[in-house]
Amino acid sequence: MKKRKRILLFYLLLTISFSSCSLLGIHIKVHNPKKAGKEPKFNQETILLGELTPVRESFDVVFYGLDIQLHPEEKTLGGWVEIRAKALVDIDSIQIDLEKSLRINEIRFGSREGATLKYTRIFRAVYLKMDHQIKKGQTFSVHVNYDGKPIIARKPPWAGGLVWKKDKEKNAWAGVACESEGASIWFPCKDHTSDEPDSSLMRFSIAEKNLMVISNGVLQAIDENATYKSFTWKVNNPINTYNITFYLGNFERIDDSYTGLKGQTLSINHYVLKPNVSKAKEHFKQVKNHLLVYEQLYGEFPWYDDGLKLVESPYSGKEHQSGIAYGNGFKNDLYGKEDYIMLHETGHEWFGNAISVADLADVWLQEGVTTYGEVLYLEKEYGSNLAYNHLLFYRWTIKNKRPVVGPSGRRYFDYHDGDVYVKGAWTLHTLRNQIANDSIFLKIMQTFYDDYKYKTTSTAQFIQTVNSVTNKNYNWLFNQYLFERKAPVFEYYISKDGYLYYRWMNTAVDFNKIKVPFTIENDATLYDVFPSSKVQRYKLKEGTNFTSEVAVDNSSALFGKSKNRKLLQKYEATDRSK
Ligand SMILES: [Zn+2]
Repeated sequence: MKKRKRILLFYLLLTISFSSCSLLGIHIKVHNPKKAGKEPKFNQETILLGELTPVRESFDVVFYGLDIQLHPEEKTLGGWVEIRAKALVDIDSIQIDLEKSLRINEIRFGSREGATLKYTRIFRAVYLKMDHQIKKGQTFSVHVNYDGKPIIARKPPWAGGLVWKKDKEKNAWAGVACESEGASIWFPCKDHTSDEPDSSLMRFSIAEKNLMVISNGVLQAIDENATYKSFTWKVNNPINTYNITFYLGNFERIDDSYTGLKGQTLSINHYVLKPNVSKAKEHFKQVKNHLLVYEQLYGEFPWYDDGLKLVESPYSGKEHQSGIAYGNGFKNDLYGKEDYIMLHETGHEWFGNAISVADLADVWLQEGVTTYGEVLYLEKEYGSNLAYNHLLFYRWTIKNKRPVVGPSGRRYFDYHDGDVYVKGAWTLHTLRNQIANDSIFLKIMQTFYDDYKYKTTSTAQFIQTVNSVTNKNYNWLFNQYLFERKAPVFEYYISKDGYLYYRWMNTAVDFNKIKVPFTIENDATLYDVFPSSKVQRYKLKEGTNFTSEVAVDNSSALFGKSKNRKLLQKYEATDRSK
């Protein structure tokens, strides 16, 4: 998801239009706050949730089976959850996770009738003691019966949790969003992003028999007893635990289908509240073009076997795998041309869902790549001016308060700082312009997608892909933009004898491959230099006035500019010291 409040600003950008791709002279200011953002504080709860300790590394989850009753009037839920896993070593005990305020009634081994397992709880961690040693390679299952009142989302989908609402006709309407918090706020699981099940089955039961419950994947069954109506959904692919979701409401289904680039048929079944059916039928058609363009850019849609649906949600949107939450009011809020939520969340099926990061420290690979995907989409469909407007808007929101790659082992995702989206996107844009060959750039994205889809990955593996596809070393670029806080600043000064003195600030020694194009005020001559952290000088055309302004083009790379009178002395000092 993206920061919704920013979207309003898109409209402001509509008033700015560039006449050509050449943006020379248009310098985009970079904010480089002197003070770094506050270091996040981690308590025992976040450490227990984020760290991969031996009691979590020892098993690989292969399947989640949820069988949960939803009680919208009481805002409670509960039932059985099966966690099936493969032992990676001999196991005596394991850690699973469940929000402390939810009550565990019992935990059984093998089946709901199996041996009762003992457990202890510290915050969300539930330490299960097995009644016998599980041998390496064995598949085993634990069945947890639990219930309670999960936290209510303060600001969904950002500050997440359960969302319990009523539609206009007073029917219950509910859902969950928990990317920031983790799925263990509402069901027991191994709540670590490095481990995804191979498949999942979700059965939701409700007493309100006129309503429906939608989840990810394919509808398997609807059954009914005297008390409940139940809806069973199956996901045939690996899935992030925070993507596992439900939507409860008075829905009606809208059927559609999409033909993929290889002629495959993707079954599309949207669900919207009944009064919105005709609006949605028309509006949701655009998702097929999103799918088409992303397939052209990155490769095949990842789950033809799970289908795709947009489900009207009681919050703005979320990338829930194959069952995207949609609450954007059926409008083309992106420049009057596209629905932002649909475009962004659909992109996540490739980057975020098919490719997921093993640690949220690298979440820019989900959010930054998806954000840049919007730019690539706009460029393909509407040309580079609109795409650049979009990118420019994002650039204004870069904060540079913390490095893009965050602390690892903490399940840390701070929705207040959007740099994982916007600086992440500008890192890719800078890389693309350094490569200066779009087919190689897209080859990187396609190769990365091909190599890591249905798996979890990391920034290191992405950099490895970049270096291997290009056969060059781009570590200097990623070190700067992902692991350093500040953006580079091009410092310059024109001396009375007509030299431009210049250097990079905030960069490492090897950050010296980015070209800085510039012109001098009242002169059409196009110059370019390759700064480094050392002061260099460049002889400008005869007659250049030393008081002139330098117009720096920073449209193809993320950096700022600043005049520094001391460069001349610094240059002379280093020159003398030689
Ligand atoms: Zn997103």
